Formats: sequence, structure tokens, C-alpha cells
Amino acid sequence: MRIILFGPPGCGKGTQGDLISKKYGFPKISTGDLLRHEVQEGTPLGKKAEVRMAKGELVNDEIVIKMIKKRIAQPEYKKGYILDGFPRNVIQAQMLEEVSQEQAEAVIEIYLNDQTAKNRLGARRICSCCGAIYNLFVKMPDKEETCVTCGEKLNLREDDKPEVIKERLKVYYEQTESLIDYYKRKRIYYRVDGEGTIETVFRNICSILDEKIANSREVKFAQ
Ligand SMILES: [Zn+2]
Repeated sequence: MRIILFGPPGCGKGTQGDLISKKYGFPKISTGDLLRHEVQEGTPLGKKAEVRMAKGELVNDEIVIKMIKKRIAQPEYKKGYILDGFPRNVIQAQMLEEVSQEQAEAVIEIYLNDQTAKNRLGARRICSCCGAIYNLFVKMPDKEETCVTCGEKLNLREDDKPEVIKERLKVYYEQTESLIDYYKRKRIYYRVDGEGTIETVFRNICSILDEKIANSREVKFAQ
């Protein structure tokens, strides 16, 4: 099964993607990881991406889609995969369909209201030394706002400052509005409430996926 996961910053899709991968055995593809991998390996695509990043430019869709195409052609991705962080707009969605030749079976948005997103991201702290991420709601270090591993002071990431969060959310809604319509028309869009605990959100995602799997089996038997 091909699954696309998306949601506003702070919705926990990274965690949910890992849980889905573990339970159903579909590998997760995160475009950030793909990019780092290609750059580290020094592949032609990685080098192209590096040139753009060095100039402070965004890595364009063509490069990202080629990386995805290369990855999903590998045997362990044949039975399905989970895409995290791509596509973000309709053009990317269409490019994805071209390279994957088949459309995704489930597009799941983990929905979060703005206030919760702001609270969650605002509670995130990063260690300036080792890069460990803490969340003051979830993983509170022993000593007040210092890293458990290196004892360094924890900081608020530039990205998680209130005014930046506001802008990130705005961009998210602008980009995804038409993407949601696009997948709704294809009848593969599902929305899961991201407010609850990790376990509750995961349970809701599982019930969607389990139903999908059961339905696809019925279709197979009927043929
Ligand atoms: Zn640290």
C-alpha cells in the first residue's frame, strides 16, 4: 500500500510514520532523509542538490522527484511505502503519480488546530551542543532546560519562535488547501485528529489502513 502522510508542523507525522512502518512493514520515505542520503553518497542528484543548497536556494521539485523515483524502484518498496513530507502541492502530487505510475491508496492528513500546533512547537527545545530535541510537555530533562547528555543549555529553535510558527502554519494552509481538494476528488483523502495522545492518533490511523487492507482483499477474492 502506498500511503501519503501530511499535516501541519507539530502534528507528529514523523512519529506516526515510524509507527505505521513498524506495524505494517512499509518503509518510510522522508524527503529530508533522501536528500541527506544522496548528498552524503555524492550521487549526481546529490551533487545537483548540493549546488542549489550552497547558493541558499531550495532544492527544486525535479531533483526531489527523481530521488523518490530512484528510491521506489528498489525491490523493498514494491509492496508499498509511506511518504512523509511529499507532495506538498498539486503539481508535486501529479509528478509523483507520473513516476510511481499508480496513485496512492491512502492520503492521511493529521489535523491539528493552530493553538495546539503553536503550543507544541513553542515547547520544543534543542540542545546547542548535540542537537537533541526535547519537548517540555513530553520529555522534560531532569535539570531545568539543560541537555541530559551534555549538560548544555537548551534553546528555542529559530523555526519555533511564535512569529515564525505563525508564518509556517500560514504557508502550510496555503499550500495544502488545493492538495486536499485534489485527493478528496480521488476519494483517497482521510483526516485524523492529531490532538490526542500518540497512541490514540495511531489507533485512528490503523483503523483507516486496516479497512483499506480488508477492502483490497475483498476485491481480490471477487476477481
Ligand atoms: Zn546535548
